[in-house]
Amino acid sequence: MSFKQIRPIPSVEDVLAREPLGAELAAIKAERDRMIRAVLTRADHRFIVIAGPCSAHDETAVCDYVGRLARVQETVRERVIIISRIYTTKPRTSGTGYKGMVHQPDPCGDSNMAEGIRAIRRLHLRALRESHLTAAEEMLYPDNHAFLDDVLSYVAVGARSVENQQHRMTASGLSIPVGMKNPRCGDLTVAFNAIRAAQLQHEFSYHGWDVQTSGNPLAHLVLRGAADLNGRPLPNYYFEHLMTAAEMYDQYSHVNQAIIVDVSHDNSGRCFKEQPRIALDVLESRRHSPVLRTMVRGIMLESFIEEGSQKPEENEYGKSITDPCLGWSETETLIKQIAELC
Ligand code: PEP
Ligand code: MN
Repeated sequence: MSFKQIRPIPSVEDVLAREPLGAELAAIKAERDRMIRAVLTRADHRFIVIAGPCSAHDETAVCDYVGRLARVQETVRERVIIISRIYTTKPRTSGTGYKGMVHQPDPCGDSNMAEGIRAIRRLHLRALRESHLTAAEEMLYPDNHAFLDDVLSYVAVGARSVENQQHRMTASGLSIPVGMKNPRCGDLTVAFNAIRAAQLQHEFSYHGWDVQTSGNPLAHLVLRGAADLNGRPLPNYYFEHLMTAAEMYDQYSHVNQAIIVDVSHDNSGRCFKEQPRIALDVLESRRHSPVLRTMVRGIMLESFIEEGSQKPEENEYGKSITDPCLGWSETETLIKQIAELC
């Protein structure tokens, strides 16, 4: 092996002890988890909107953004539950580029995962303290979930990880919803198998222990579009795609059958400005079909303060350094429109 040991990774106990959640925020999370669970079990008919930048690289800008979301949440609270998207790990298609705050706490600085783990916990705690919104993360590294388990309300398993056994087994032990994305090839059976695996009990090794999970009844499908053999986007949010996904759900014995539509990525062809149109199209499909009305429980948006994206060294406040995002004013307008139409 060519591994060179650079520095030890802090233990979960140490990281949580230095940045504890505290009873007040724990109570807020418990209440938010209860509400979000009720949406996925169809006891609450509100619509979920998961919104935030592709990657969270700047604590202050992310907290500013999440504070804005919290103010909108107040105005739409009867119809919409907003989950802030605070993603601190980035899967890279070709292995190069920014891998997220957990690798690089300073996006222009050196890689330092030991510090990155502390930085992402600080970010999540501050965002929760200031907004009272609990967040969604991608679970790119299953082991790292333990550093954030007490603060998150939603986890997605990404298109590049969804066929991986460790991700599926870890998802089976979480007590929050886990969205299984369709893989980039678009094969929905992969995502449905991931949901099945996550809903089952497993025994496996996690953080140095042989552990047993109870299965996660809140694992569900996220449609994010696909790429064709030449890498061109193939959306999967149209009415027909949603109906196909709903029919496929019937062939499996999954509980809490639910679909969240990611209106970015290969659904938008990374044209960030298309996200509102796609979101409204999904709502139109729900209006058209009672099956979809109960099955499609929410959408996911890539959005930040400034629209578009930039290179890390450009350093414009509130602008994504990974996938391009919808800007704040269009995001606010869209969430209010969703609240009227859902
Ligand atoms: C993302 O949410 O930014 C992402 C990388 O998603 P996906 O796994 O769908 O590509
Ligand atoms: Mn993205």
